[in-house]
Amino acid sequence: MNTAEAVREGATVELTNVVKDYAGHRALTGVNLSMAPGEFIALLGPSGCGKTTVLRALSGLESISDGRITIDGRDVSYVPVNKRDIGMVFQAYSLFPHMTVMQNVEFGLQMRKVDATSRRARAAEALDMVGLGHLGARYAHQLSGGQQQRVALARALVTRPRVLLLDEPLSALDAKVRVQLRDEIRRIQTDLGITTLFVTHDQEEALAVADRVAVMREGNIEQVGTPEDLYTQPATSFVATFVGLSNPIDGRLVGESVRVLGTDLPLLGTGPADGDVTAFIRPEDIVFAERGIPATVVVSSFLGSLRRTQVRLEDGTLLFVQHDVRTRPLTGEQVHLELTGRPVAVSSRVG
Ligand code: ATP
Repeated sequence: MNTAEAVREGATVELTNVVKDYAGHRALTGVNLSMAPGEFIALLGPSGCGKTTVLRALSGLESISDGRITIDGRDVSYVPVNKRDIGMVFQAYSLFPHMTVMQNVEFGLQMRKVDATSRRARAAEALDMVGLGHLGARYAHQLSGGQQQRVALARALVTRPRVLLLDEPLSALDAKVRVQLRDEIRRIQTDLGITTLFVTHDQEEALAVADRVAVMREGNIEQVGTPEDLYTQPATSFVATFVGLSNPIDGRLVGESVRVLGTDLPLLGTGPADGDVTAFIRPEDIVFAERGIPATVVVSSFLGSLRRTQVRLEDGTLLFVQHDVRTRPLTGEQVHLELTGRPVAVSSRVG
């Protein structure tokens, strides 16, 4: 497909203090998010935190109670869904069952009164882009789940929108197809330069595809950053535990340093007031050593390129240690641990 033709170029998108109230329940408490043209942002968070509500508010499917949404500087807060220049792909396969694949993709153009010849040509291009140029004559029930979602993507892109919204588009697919389609969505999105917001509750998926990840919690965005930023510099304990695996361990904060398991570690970012805290130690920041903190191996799991071993400290604390596959700890084995000394995120004492 001629990519210059496919979209006019991605838009800037700005959500400013967006609030959404559903009868008696505040689903969004003042969401702020800026998206650069062509940027791919994953909206990540636990069930019910408001991810879909952000997407629906941005698309215009849901009205907002307060705040402002702009696309390329134009206030679209009260602009109807069909006038926002947005393409959408949803979780559930949403193809029209009585139409062929080609007709499904053409549909949006038909609504926009594009003539039949251009319609056919553009739908064929969009189908080629998602690798389904040969299946235009099929019906939805004759396609696999992954193929249906590709058609849904072609249908969203055929109108050349400037913003693409994806609401858990991979969640109904099996693991392998999920990864394939995820990478393909990213490739197409990069080729087209279309500004994209991708909702998921799967952190691996978010970290793998996005330029930046916005972590949501209870109706608001807690941190926005590159995958590396979120992992190495979580702004809050929620982000530290939600993005990647962390071991919460009791510690004591004094100034810029936190004492954890007898070791002083530098503090990551800004911490709470001095005193008892919870430190979040990554499993790769704990190593087996000749001497150090005594522990007993609970179980060790082979994960392909690495091993994750759960150990129990003398006080009963359970920790995960991530290490080379060549080290094979046995259940019940007595080991010693050291902390690597990398900076650590802390929060006020949890629990
Ligand atoms: P999930 O990952 O489970 O899809 P989510 O993060 O997308 O969750 P939302 O669907 O945005 O969450 O819902 C946010 C909150 O708003 C939830 O508490 C939900 O129950 C509530 N909510 C969503 N839609 C409505 C509605 N139409 N009426 C009332 N409450 C709603």
